[in-house]
Amino acid sequence: MIAQVVFGILLIAAIALFARNLGRIGRNIHLGKPQAINDRKAERWSTMARVALGQSKMVVRPVAGIMHILIYAGFIIINLEVLEIIIDGLFGTHRIGAFLGGFYDFLIGSFEILAIGVLLACIVFIARRAIIQLPRFHKPEMKGWPSKDAMIILVTEIVLMCAFLTMNAADFVLQGLGAEHYTQAGSFPVSAAIASTLNLSNLQPSTLITLERTAWWFHIIGILAFLNYLVVSKHLHILLAFPNVWYSKLQPRTEFANMPRITGEVKSMIDPSVPPPDPAPARTVAGAEVPERFGAKDIFDLSWKSLMDAYSCTECGRCTSECPANLTGKLLSPRKIMMDTRDRLEEVGKAIDAKGKWEDDGQSLHSRISEEELWACTTCNACTQACPVNIDPVSIIMEMRRYKVMEESSTRPALTSMFNNVENNGAPWAFGADRRMEWTQDA
Ligand code: SF4
Ligand code: SF4
Repeated sequence: MIAQVVFGILLIAAIALFARNLGRIGRNIHLGKPQAINDRKAERWSTMARVALGQSKMVVRPVAGIMHILIYAGFIIINLEVLEIIIDGLFGTHRIGAFLGGFYDFLIGSFEILAIGVLLACIVFIARRAIIQLPRFHKPEMKGWPSKDAMIILVTEIVLMCAFLTMNAADFVLQGLGAEHYTQAGSFPVSAAIASTLNLSNLQPSTLITLERTAWWFHIIGILAFLNYLVVSKHLHILLAFPNVWYSKLQPRTEFANMPRITGEVKSMIDPSVPPPDPAPARTVAGAEVPERFGAKDIFDLSWKSLMDAYSCTECGRCTSECPANLTGKLLSPRKIMMDTRDRLEEVGKAIDAKGKWEDDGQSLHSRISEEELWACTTCNACTQACPVNIDPVSIIMEMRRYKVMEESSTRPALTSMFNNVENNGAPWAFGADRRMEWTQDA
């Protein structure tokens, strides 16, 4: 009974903490500008089924893709076992699912085979990072915490799978001994082999029970801790990949969104009968007034979808490994753009939590992302094409460039003459429309 109460308290505390942190992330995402995304619903569902559920963009790189699918399937399917563990923990039962008979045996057997798959995949992923040292995992933005975060999660998954198999191995032997409370249920293709290799049947039943109970508690506490670790790590993508893909851009990747106010002003300039648009009202966000800006100075000026993108980034670096700017030695890394956006968003969120409202801290997105990075982007969209969860770093880059050009009149020298020509000649060239056909004349 004490064990059930302790388990219940742990479970409620872990779920409450998780819900609180998830609510905080939702609040942070909505610090961004409103953007209505609810068109072409059928296409959105099918994109989500293909890209998020089917992992279609992961398998473009088959080795990593298949390993990832293994871990992903393991994560989803082995969690059915967690459901049973929770019921057993709350009601003091053991293997409550045993009434399923042969189907239960099939499930437990499948979980064990998947657990071995997950274990192997995690070892390969660690080797790719630590031994083979794939270049995309060792770019400057991956130094420090991002590398540790990835390793923590891979090692945790290995430890959790070991605890699961240890629990089953001890359970298997106890069932064979006819120990009280250990219902005869399940098939154990992997843990039976482990029990035999380690000669677990030589242990006293009391030792086996201690081993099984320790692994059981370790496994479930590890899972509850993992749940709460998700919300402070890049592994949040496990949850956000699905909504992020659903809300992803369906228009052609290279299509830029116009700024409605600028469009209105241009229309008014061309046709004087069209009234100029009204200035957009300032928004109140977290108790502070945020003026309507051209482009993005800070996270408040990005759409909520760009902020969700930032939280959904897995830091896999596929975008950066395909980025022509990065490949030719420029400072730009689309992965860093997403990581910097998330770090700034977290910084703002923590300040709001601490003070109860937002107070300008003199920092912005531009404190983290340099002009050199912004102007290195060719807008080729190789990054958005490569991203396995349809993240769009280009929107953030373009919004930040817009801010630089339209609010700070800061641009690259090569672009200044083009801007002047557009303003004076209505075209990027250094001559007026009346001289456009001169090239057809004889010299
Ligand atoms: S759009 Fe920009 S950031 Fe993305 S791959 Fe092309 S150059 Fe790199
Ligand atoms: S933006 Fe996409 S491709 Fe780039 S690191 Fe993040 S998840 Fe990977």
